[in-house]
Amino acid sequence: MPAEDRLIALSSAPPVFAVVEAERIVADLYGLTASAEALAGERDGNFHVRTRQGQDFVLKILGGDRTEGPECQVRVLRHLEIQDPTLPVPRVFTTLQGTDLGLVTQEGNSYSTCLIAYMPGRMLADMAPSLALLRDVGATLARVDRALRGFFHPALARRIAWDVRELPALTRHLPCIGNRDLRRLVATVAADFGERLRAVAALRAQALHGDGHGGNVAVQATGDRVAGILDFGDMIHGPLALELAVAMAEAPTRGLEPAVALSAVLAGYMQVQSLEADEIELLYDLIMARHAVTLAIHAWRLQHDAGAAILHEAALHAEASLDWMQSRGRASLTQHWHGIAGTRAEAPLPVTLERRHRLLGANAELFYEQPLHFVRGSGVYLFDPEDRAYLDVYNNVPHVGHCHPAVVRAIAGQAARLATHSRYLHGAILEYAEALTARCPPQLNTCIFVNSGSEANDVAWRLAQFATGRRGAVIMADAYHGITNAVAALTPASGDRGESLEPWVVALDPPTAQDYEETMSEADIAAVTAAAGCAVSTLDARGLGAAAFFLDTGLTSSGIYDAPPSWAKALSTELRSAGCLLVADEVQYGLGRSGSHFWGFERRGLMPDIVTLGKPIGNGYPMGAVIANRALVEAFQAKFGFFSTFGGNAVAARAGLAVLDVIDREALLANAGSTGKYFRERLQAVASEHAGFGRVRGTGLLLGLEVRGADAAAAKSRTKQIINVVKNRSRILIGYEGPNGSILKLRPPLPFQPAHADLVAAAIGEAAALIGD
Ligand code: PMP
Repeated sequence: MPAEDRLIALSSAPPVFAVVEAERIVADLYGLTASAEALAGERDGNFHVRTRQGQDFVLKILGGDRTEGPECQVRVLRHLEIQDPTLPVPRVFTTLQGTDLGLVTQEGNSYSTCLIAYMPGRMLADMAPSLALLRDVGATLARVDRALRGFFHPALARRIAWDVRELPALTRHLPCIGNRDLRRLVATVAADFGERLRAVAALRAQALHGDGHGGNVAVQATGDRVAGILDFGDMIHGPLALELAVAMAEAPTRGLEPAVALSAVLAGYMQVQSLEADEIELLYDLIMARHAVTLAIHAWRLQHDAGAAILHEAALHAEASLDWMQSRGRASLTQHWHGIAGTRAEAPLPVTLERRHRLLGANAELFYEQPLHFVRGSGVYLFDPEDRAYLDVYNNVPHVGHCHPAVVRAIAGQAARLATHSRYLHGAILEYAEALTARCPPQLNTCIFVNSGSEANDVAWRLAQFATGRRGAVIMADAYHGITNAVAALTPASGDRGESLEPWVVALDPPTAQDYEETMSEADIAAVTAAAGCAVSTLDARGLGAAAFFLDTGLTSSGIYDAPPSWAKALSTELRSAGCLLVADEVQYGLGRSGSHFWGFERRGLMPDIVTLGKPIGNGYPMGAVIANRALVEAFQAKFGFFSTFGGNAVAARAGLAVLDVIDREALLANAGSTGKYFRERLQAVASEHAGFGRVRGTGLLLGLEVRGADAAAAKSRTKQIINVVKNRSRILIGYEGPNGSILKLRPPLPFQPAHADLVAAAIGEAAALIGD
């Protein structure tokens, strides 16, 4: 049975008991002589029971799930009675045996029963409420939530269709919605909500009533106070903000401006229980999702279940409210609610280019002809101030996804405890060093922590000079290794590419063998060996000697090459035989981006002397690391007394540990492999349809697509056009790479999925068609 069909409450089906049976149950189990009258119920059989003495009760014959659900319903009422005795929720009465639950059987089926107090009053659903009443609804639910804080029961983990987090599972049933426009709208709401699920999962959570609609709220005769919160049968353990979201979504707005009505519920809730900024940020999504769930369940029941009628009114309300919410817009409603809650949205700064130029210099790098402004990120998406999502296929720093909650938690938790430098003892830095070195060959057993890839390469360069007593460096053509004075010289990719290299740097041509599986000819191998030998002798002739060969193992800025191991072997054999150290710069390719190996040097078949790390290791927290052999590190420390104030601080170490943990837990290396392979195939298909594209380069989630043009300048300009069109039309972020800037660079966060690859391939194809070959 598909998982969504196991959702409780998708179908209604309360147990069917006649009035006389109810009267008999009350007499047998509770010793009451009473007359009964059936009440509405979605999944429970409910009866209003009145004794001869004029006492009123509700007999509930509990349907739906017959395992832990009934016990949870009475346990929670007992819990509330203790926590907040004045709370207007039903009291439980025991059976003649003194138990909270009774048992009845009907045609071989057994059902639990419970007897609770009848709460008189009109139902909120039937009223044109005053604002005072709506405020009291919010306040009463907040009191319920406060009293529920310490409550738990295993039944709260049931999967129930009314839990908005099940919306993605319900989308299978959207074809049941007959009205095409409404169906599309609900599908859009569901897709948008799917994007927010991770953020929703990061909200504080607890036991919730979860169903504060007008049919579950009884109102006092005066009309402005809640008389009772009913029906604890849909309780879940979920985000606290969902309680409020359901009440706001369901608040009847007859005779009121909807914005004012919803605000009254929120204001009432806030009188009792404050909300966090993140909760307010997601309120709009939770409310929209509730409406979408109502419409999906209603439509499903219309086709499959007799219990649709009970939802007709709710569905009409949901449809109207969805419309209204959309017309008001997420940004304006959220801002308004922040105002009421006293929380603050992360205000999008008024960013003007002029201001930026004045403060950061007009040549401070910016992407795009019309630069983008982002205010938040989640997974593989970035969001602008209007909350439009952009698919991020460019950034490798958010390696495990933008603002991954586990990493954010790790950073925030440690920052709240201790954030100091590494000259005191602390466990986190050691745990992290252990976790990194455990993934390296045995001789790479000691770490130096710094704050960026540039610093890591700078330190590696000092180590290499110290170890060899030499001062010359070998790099790849168009390499990028960083911005410090020393490593900027190892970075011809930056600035004016035509400039000549410093005399102590020699660059090697990119590999001619581009296919990882390619068997290189002996002549080609000899040429690679000869080029390496030539680099060494050039540096020797200059009186410097070759101290280190720096290799970005993804050969990213050189043009994204996935050269075969025979290429790397020929190079490294020659260089190492000359005593030159090998520095594997894993700033781009490390931590599984290749999809086949954790380290890029493993894919290349290399055994480095020094490994440098940056960008992805902190998922946005600035960090860098150097891994080398202990003897070398100790001798270097003894001579130079090396220390970095922020390097390896406890917060950084926690961020690093969380990143490694997420890579493993979410199997991101394997995903880079499988999704990368799929992405590559999709790009190849696009390339085969347009003469303006050449080969697809790279592997895993570091891919390049060659763009052609009549000449180099034309190719470069087409590349830029494609990037801008893809951004403007499809809200997808890609970059360019290579010596001529004519390779589309595709390097997304590792949670990237095949469905995203489809979007990117389609958008690039469309852009190419628009621009023309
Ligand atoms: N090495 C490589 C291969 C890089 O791509 C980069 C950054 N693009 C660096 C080093 C420098 O890292 P950072 O910007 O953190 O200093």
